[in-house]
Amino acid sequence: MLEVEHIDAGYGSTVILQDVSLRVDTGEVVTIVGANGAGKTTTLRCIAGLLQPRSGRIRLDGQDITELAAHDIVDLGITLIPEGRQLFPDMTVRENLMMGAYRREARACQSQSLSEVLDLFPRLAERLDQPAVSLSGGEQQMVAIARGMMARPKILMFDEPSLGLAPIIVSQVFEVIEQVAASGTTVLIVEQNVFHTLKVADRGYVLENGRMTLEDSAAALLADDHVRQAYLGI
Ligand code: ATP
Repeated sequence: MLEVEHIDAGYGSTVILQDVSLRVDTGEVVTIVGANGAGKTTTLRCIAGLLQPRSGRIRLDGQDITELAAHDIVDLGITLIPEGRQLFPDMTVRENLMMGAYRREARACQSQSLSEVLDLFPRLAERLDQPAVSLSGGEQQMVAIARGMMARPKILMFDEPSLGLAPIIVSQVFEVIEQVAASGTTVLIVEQNVFHTLKVADRGYVLENGRMTLEDSAAALLADDHVRQAYLGI
């Protein structure tokens, strides 16, 4: 479904990603794990069209999307839930959710999408008319995920969904990601919480200093000596 082929990318004269390749097949949950600054967010920004790779290609269902604008990539069905949630704080939960449905295909079925996401997030149904800023961190992350789903994407990309959340809330966020995947959405997650993310993923990649150093099934990565020592502290 999604293929990233040998991309190099960076900011100004700084090179961040070197020869990064990955693929995500339909229905899979794939994760990219790595330390701070490894280039995980940069990889997602390239896929989302927010940063132009210097070389290499990105394809969705065989179509070359490398040079498309971010809004065209959203229209084709790739949605990014950014790190730090980036909600509109003074707008209500309902208004934030509706902002997610701007993709052409999603606009036609806004109310159906809203009732589907509220089934998945009953807590949000009780808070639809509250300003987003009044919600707890975990609830705000749920709004960010629900807003991403309102776009009815083929692929939902999560950038550090567990960042800054208490452990019990982190578990809830990963449960929701499993439900999103079970509902048929293909998922790509970038995380520093390596244990949780490998538990929900089918496959994973390890990104170190801008290069992919390992690729395997999530179960094999959980058992890998280097992953255990460097990322799980075992
Ligand atoms: P983290 O988990 O800390 O978010 P990451 O793996 O997602 O890390 P990136 O955010 O992709 O890493 O950043 C990779 C490198 O690129 C870092 O050294 C960062 O400082 C640098 N970088 C990120 N954004 C910019 C920018 N806009 N301009 C210059 N350098 C940047």
